[in-house]
Amino acid sequence: MKVKPLVGVSACLLGRNVRYDGESKLTPHISDSLGSAVEFLPICPEVEFGLGVPREAVQLVDSQNGVRLQTLDFCRDETERMTEWANKRLDDLAGLPLCGFVFKSRSPSCALRGLDVFDSSGEIVRSDASGIFARMFLERFPDIPVEDEDRLADPTARDSFISRVKK
Ligand code: SF4
Repeated sequence: MKVKPLVGVSACLLGRNVRYDGESKLTPHISDSLGSAVEFLPICPEVEFGLGVPREAVQLVDSQNGVRLQTLDFCRDETERMTEWANKRLDDLAGLPLCGFVFKSRSPSCALRGLDVFDSSGEIVRSDASGIFARMFLERFPDIPVEDEDRLADPTARDSFISRVKK
């Protein structure tokens, strides 16, 4: 039997109850349609670096120290914990035959693009950011094909992604 390509995925898209509110974001065009062509490696950065379920939601906040990952209610800065964990996790992934990654859109950890960054008073200062884990992944693995859940809703984009991860 032919081995399916190994593709990382934001775990909530497969129906894992890992979101801040204890829910999932099951997305059948990922879990079923794409899932029939690849073998998934589910990863939830926020759970893996130590935030529980349920947890305070997080957002990206602009500061003198650059863009930070901060909890919404108590403004706890979780950037260091996230980046330390991500560096180790990316080291682990470098040792696997990873062929692609599918990211959850609109997540301060996982979004590939188009994410809002806020100032300390809660105003949006820009809307072109990537989630922290997604950005670190792209920097570390610039040649691995990536997509997000929104784009993969289009069957043509899905077919194109499948052919790229099979190369
Ligand atoms: S978007 Fe990423 S960090 Fe948020 S629940 Fe899904 S996998 Fe976890």
